[in-house]
Amino acid sequence: MDDSIYRGIIIRQNNYGDAHRMLSVFTKDSGIIKAVRYGVRGKKTSNAAAFQLFCYGDFKLRPSRGEIMTAVSADVLDGFYPVSEDIVKLSLLSYLADITYCLLGEGNPDNRILSMFLNTVYAAAYRNEGYTKLKTVYELKLMCAGGYMPSFSGCAECGGSPEYFRPDSGSFVCRAHHRAGDIKISKEAASLMKYIADSPDKRMLSFRLKDNSLLDELNAVTERYVSVQCEKSFESLRYFRAMLKA
Ligand SMILES: [Zn+2]
Repeated sequence: MDDSIYRGIIIRQNNYGDAHRMLSVFTKDSGIIKAVRYGVRGKKTSNAAAFQLFCYGDFKLRPSRGEIMTAVSADVLDGFYPVSEDIVKLSLLSYLADITYCLLGEGNPDNRILSMFLNTVYAAAYRNEGYTKLKTVYELKLMCAGGYMPSFSGCAECGGSPEYFRPDSGSFVCRAHHRAGDIKISKEAASLMKYIADSPDKRMLSFRLKDNSLLDELNAVTERYVSVQCEKSFESLRYFRAMLKA
């Protein structure tokens, strides 16, 4: 079997054995795949920077007898280096990578989600966007792209005025029909949610708000939505929050 080139971004790194590293690469053609980079820990190897977390490029991978490929070399297109030097950005993107992993699984190509992820990494590296905005917008857009577009047409049970968001069904409900687990949401935050969900992916971060409290409110909703649909609470989210406070 021959080596192949995969264009993608490294979204996770774990230690593998004593001296190796397991990489998860979100690729264009094969979705999220794993590859081992042998002998990268503890000694200087050529091409080391190319295998940093959130490095985007063309990765040469070699099939092996097992399921996991070997990472041979890489041509970097963008290392997003401002991210690798900032622990808050790193921890935020690690959480966004985790929820992507959770929703998409391995081996499922999805170029819409990949380009949204790349847009978010780009914005984190080179643009002065707030963390809450990056997080909320990506959470919501990921859900939309992953088949969990919220339903914005009034109360799901009676069509009445939407006052709560129901994270297990992705719909809104009125005051009379809300139950435990639903999240109170203001009209303004619900409008912002619809605006972001409907916005073209490429322009998903191109809005300005006078008041960031609306984003804070929406952030609690999208975070809960992701967590309920993934049936998981994320360690990387707790870590991001801790880094934010530090
Ligand atoms: Zn109702």
